[in-house]
Amino acid sequence: MTVTLPMQKLEEEIIQLISERGKLILENQEDAKLTMDQIEKVNNGPYDAASIQQLFTQLDERFSSKKDTYLYSRDYKREDTVIQVKKHKIGQGEPVKIMGPCSVETEEQVRQAAADLASRGVKFIRGGAFKPRTSPYDFQGLGINGLRMLSDAARIHDMAVVSEIMSADQIETALPYIDIIQVGSRNMQNFELLKAVGRVNKPVLLKRGLSSTIKEFKMAAEYILAEGNPNVILCERGIRTYEDATRNTLDISAVPILKQETHLPVLVDITHSTGRKDILLPTAKAALAVGADGIMTEVHPNPAVALSDAKQQMDLSEFHAFMDAIEKFEQHHLL
Ligand code: PEP
Ligand code: MN
Repeated sequence: MTVTLPMQKLEEEIIQLISERGKLILENQEDAKLTMDQIEKVNNGPYDAASIQQLFTQLDERFSSKKDTYLYSRDYKREDTVIQVKKHKIGQGEPVKIMGPCSVETEEQVRQAAADLASRGVKFIRGGAFKPRTSPYDFQGLGINGLRMLSDAARIHDMAVVSEIMSADQIETALPYIDIIQVGSRNMQNFELLKAVGRVNKPVLLKRGLSSTIKEFKMAAEYILAEGNPNVILCERGIRTYEDATRNTLDISAVPILKQETHLPVLVDITHSTGRKDILLPTAKAALAVGADGIMTEVHPNPAVALSDAKQQMDLSEFHAFMDAIEKFEQHHLL
């Protein structure tokens, strides 16, 4: 098209200039943009400076909404992320088991749990010391003392410790006792906490939010990755639905979706999702069958006296029976 009218000529020049500006923005020169004050100084009207700035912002937003190669995605990284924790690996084919009590309660309790878990080859012990309880009057956890007990018990058997922290200011004191930081369901969208654990040099086990979508779950992981911590483990733990036969509704299809759409290891918490001991085994089998990199489940030497989640924790004989069955399943179906 040949442009002849002065208006058309001018608009053509503006388009060329905008294109050049866009190229600089794509080269990440966004910081070099004129400030509002500078725009005001060079602007002679009739448009006000705010409108001009808004125009630039609108143009630039087009780019940011197109920037969809998220760090969690397979587009960003094709191969599976394998996370090394002490001598153990997560995400390398052999499913891991993270087991242990809901809460750390006594030295005796965690020692007993660790001994039995270790005797069956479980490499990761869990136990909450900072507990996100629904009621403020319920047991809130033993805090750092609890972590010390858990880590002492784990060390005897060379196990790795998984435990939840609930706020950024707990990180520094908790870190020496924890090998994998758990971010619980209730904190999945605590963005300041996500950013803080993103700056830490330890893997993070991120649980799916109580009512969060898969997209929100992935974006929560993105917060951690974007701060520079590449070691994020996703944990499906059931979501809220109208169904009350189980504590939560295990979204089993989230596992293959997350495996397809992210390169991160994916675990299934069979205890908090179901809240029912009678279906732990089939749920664990289902999780492994759809490609989970491991399972998390609660085991307590004496669940009847547990200070949290008493009904859903396996006792030690139930644990051994569970291991017998799941080992058999793994031998027949997975290897
Ligand atoms: C837990 O694993 O201890 C826990 C509280 O689980 P969730 O955050 O999934 O409810
Ligand atoms: Mn629990």
